[in-house]
Amino acid sequence: MDYISTRDNNNIVSSSFAIAHGISKEGGLFLPKEAPKLTEDDFNIMRKLSYVDRAKYVFKYFLTDFSDEEITNCVKGAYIGTFDNDLPAPISKLGDNMNILELWHGPTCAFKDLALQILPYLLTTSAKKISNGKKSVILVATSGDTGKAALEGFKDVEGTEMVVFYPENGVSDMQKLQMASQEGSNVHVCAIKGNFDDAQTAVKKIFTDNEFKKILADNNMEFSSANSINWGRLCPQIVYYISAYLDMLNSGENLENGFNVCVPTGNFGNILAAYYAKMMGVPIKKLICASNRNKVLTDFINTGIYNKNRDFYLTSSPSMDILISSNLERLLYILAEGDDKYISSIQEELSSCGKYTVKEEIKNKIQNEFYGGFCDDSETSDTIKKIFDDFGYLIDTHTAVAVNVYNKYISETGDNKPTLIASTASPYKFAGSVLEALGQNQNADKFEVLDELSKLTSTDIPSPIAKLKNAKVRFKNVYSKDDMYDAVKSSLGLM
Ligand SMILES: *Cc1c(COP(=O)(O)O)cnc(C)c1O
Repeated sequence: MDYISTRDNNNIVSSSFAIAHGISKEGGLFLPKEAPKLTEDDFNIMRKLSYVDRAKYVFKYFLTDFSDEEITNCVKGAYIGTFDNDLPAPISKLGDNMNILELWHGPTCAFKDLALQILPYLLTTSAKKISNGKKSVILVATSGDTGKAALEGFKDVEGTEMVVFYPENGVSDMQKLQMASQEGSNVHVCAIKGNFDDAQTAVKKIFTDNEFKKILADNNMEFSSANSINWGRLCPQIVYYISAYLDMLNSGENLENGFNVCVPTGNFGNILAAYYAKMMGVPIKKLICASNRNKVLTDFINTGIYNKNRDFYLTSSPSMDILISSNLERLLYILAEGDDKYISSIQEELSSCGKYTVKEEIKNKIQNEFYGGFCDDSETSDTIKKIFDDFGYLIDTHTAVAVNVYNKYISETGDNKPTLIASTASPYKFAGSVLEALGQNQNADKFEVLDELSKLTSTDIPSPIAKLKNAKVRFKNVYSKDDMYDAVKSSLGLM
């Protein structure tokens, strides 16, 4: 299968090239030239398989320059022994129509693990194929969960070096501690003064900086990316939507008229994976895109105008505090039927004016496929309480945004098809906000909060979070965004 850049149709590469490089040289994102189609037979075969074998099955379509043995190694390494009960993506059913896809049973308790447990395997396998032994330097900008999941995935992975940037005041206490206490000889963590978009923009700039690339080349290194722009992040996410479909079929859910998917969205990676599953033949109807108060995507879906020139809010769902949703570029490329010039021009507008308007026909296509909605922190909080009161089921702030918007969608449309709701983090990762939503005050220290939440809800604290109690803080530096270039250099021992 060939991969192509969203900004240059002549830039055609292999899957290993796309994964090893992360981003194309002209700043575009790689995507498969065409989405593979799964048949009824494929689904019937996969219904009987384990998650690991379903993942292998799907990867074979996308990673055509990997051998079967390489794919097997990657998938087994990533998904055996790393998730609770070796079930990376179980479903809990609430009421008649809500299927909660729990994507937080991995080592860092957020859905990013599904991709970042396997990315190091995909990346090192890819790098071996194409870059003759160069060390991969991975820069990550994170709004909280990516950073920790990437660090866990890549710690002490030979041939890799990782630098993670997170906004000093834009992540939860628990997320900060998770990252600042990270172990591993090849990982570096830097807090920055600024928000996630500042971090992401600076990382992209460093990434495409020719002078910096030359310095790396002289030291037998090259950049790669673990951010959700890397195809190696997106591909594993497609698997769990296909797998969830098969699990719902197996549990007797009536899917004759298809089902909807609702995703709490930031960078547009997770929901794009669901769209890929749909293109591949999974009978997904509406894709419900849920945002918090940073509702740039809601506005975009409703108006066709993407405008990041607006106030930025810190919310109780910090992993979605994002105004530049990078993966949207892939969707627009697909909907513009591969018009690379058009994509280049609107992305150019975005970086120069912070804004673009899509053509009417693209807007119509988007509105056919997607519904956009948002909620604020107090609605998020009410939703956590309501779901706990109604079902005795605890959800985190991000999942609550999704559930809230799902309810808005139903009351607007009356569409009561079965719905798969992506649950993206353990409630214990955002224990303070969750406890407050349940009516407890929040002034205890962050570990007492965990115990209180556990007692109040009779649920267990996930062990990766419980063991942070004894973690030692290792990374304390805070950088201004103008110092990020130097921070990377010094982390790599290049100055
Ligand atoms: C990253 C993240 C999101 C947003 O996912 P995108 O793929 O960036 O849209 C939502 N919830 C949680 C908990 C996350 O960590």
